[in-house]
Amino acid sequence: MYKAVIGLEVHCELETKSKNFSSAPNQFSKIPNQHVAPTDLGLPGILPVVNKEACKKALLTAIALHCENPNEIIFDRKNYFYPDLPKGYQITQVTKPMGKNGYLDILVQGKWKRVGIHQLHLEEDTASLEHDKNYTLIDYNRSGVPLIEIVTEPCLETSEEAITFLEDLKDIFLYLGVSEAKSNYGQMRCDVNISVKKEESTELGTKVEMKNINAFHRVKQAIDYEIKRQINQLENGEKILQETRRIAEDGKTYAMREKVDAIDYKYFIEPNIPSTKITNEYLNELKKMIPKLKMDRYIQYIEKYKMKEEDAKVLVKNKKIADYFEQVQKNCHDTELVIHFMTTFILSTLNKLEISLEELWITEEMLSKVIQLVEKGQISLDHGKKILYQSIEKKIDPIELIKKENLHQINDEKELIVLIKKIMEENPEQVRQYIEEDNFHVINFFIGQTMKQSNRQANPNKSLELIQQELERRKQNEQSI
Ligand code: ADP
Ligand code: MG
Repeated sequence: MYKAVIGLEVHCELETKSKNFSSAPNQFSKIPNQHVAPTDLGLPGILPVVNKEACKKALLTAIALHCENPNEIIFDRKNYFYPDLPKGYQITQVTKPMGKNGYLDILVQGKWKRVGIHQLHLEEDTASLEHDKNYTLIDYNRSGVPLIEIVTEPCLETSEEAITFLEDLKDIFLYLGVSEAKSNYGQMRCDVNISVKKEESTELGTKVEMKNINAFHRVKQAIDYEIKRQINQLENGEKILQETRRIAEDGKTYAMREKVDAIDYKYFIEPNIPSTKITNEYLNELKKMIPKLKMDRYIQYIEKYKMKEEDAKVLVKNKKIADYFEQVQKNCHDTELVIHFMTTFILSTLNKLEISLEELWITEEMLSKVIQLVEKGQISLDHGKKILYQSIEKKIDPIELIKKENLHQINDEKELIVLIKKIMEENPEQVRQYIEEDNFHVINFFIGQTMKQSNRQANPNKSLELIQQELERRKQNEQSI
């Protein structure tokens, strides 16, 4: 039996105002070479200035991934030539990266797996190249954009584990607000390293590398195809070449170039950037800024709120939705009811209207107030939802709407008894049956009429009580005459 071994190198562009080492805007633009400073072009005499916000965001991510943090920040030069790298070197981190030896726990098929993070470092993105038949265009907008690279240990075993890891990582970026991590914009991309070995072997097999895959489904395709291809190769007595391959449109991988030796990048400490001390105070400050993350909430929702796994999964996926739920949960007593409203009303409304939570008319306070009315028995669950739907439609606060359109439940006994008496005057035959024949079934008839004539707003329990009292009173009167 063979076993696959997968290691990922994930790149993610950070969201900052300016680039990592220059003041040019860190902004996507369709117009090429619009956001470019001399530093990004590698012009002679340039001096890089480190972006504090980028360092902060890289450190935040490293902390969220349980990494050991350095006591100072040092940048290094990685020397190589490529047209997308005008300086002839990339400023990155080797000597003291932002984080080392971290981990992320992922849940795959009901089992927890700890994915080792070898290291996390901050570097700069390259320019982007657009190849034509006879020429290549270079766009320097991306040159110098802050980029973090997260390198996992070779510890993943299936494409499902790899995808779960990538999805959870993306959600961490979003929870932390360090990046929008849009893979269709190339903001998050990953190199996949993969090898296979005999299950009992303690040595890793020769790895194949696939660079810069944007979409998660392509990562899955690449892994699944490579596992099969490599096992086949070994079964046929052939060797696996250490090479770089690419995943093509047809879902197959093709060899690009053989990787004979590790490239010697002649790293050295970037002489133009002084090292910066990182104090424990600063690290503690950053730790306090990290919100409760997705999987921690997932565990909490299941254990504390007894949520179903599938409900917990959708609620924690987006931090804003999870925060919204937690706020409403705090405001209300009946958590089960809150979960019910979140899954059957909030999420389904977002889906139906194809809007984000920010665009939803119903705020946490509004939903809380409606749920509180249901809790107190002042409106029914369905009535509550009906009010919420109307509130969205009319853009009126639900509580206002209840007042304005008189949608509240009728609890006032005087009001109810007036209605009940009127119904009894209209239906003397049913009253007679109760008095003369002791026909208790007519009570149901009167309840039905009361609900119908009150537009379903009459309090059903109170109505029942009052109907019984009124019928009894009439019976006594009759007998005493
Ligand atoms: P390189 O020297 O080729 O850059 P590294 O040891 O730095 O290789 O590892 C790069 C990535 O490849 C890491 O994510 C690591 O987990 C993964 N990796 C290393 N060896 C293997 C292997 N034998 N099979 C699969 N992945 C591997
Ligand atoms: Mg490497």
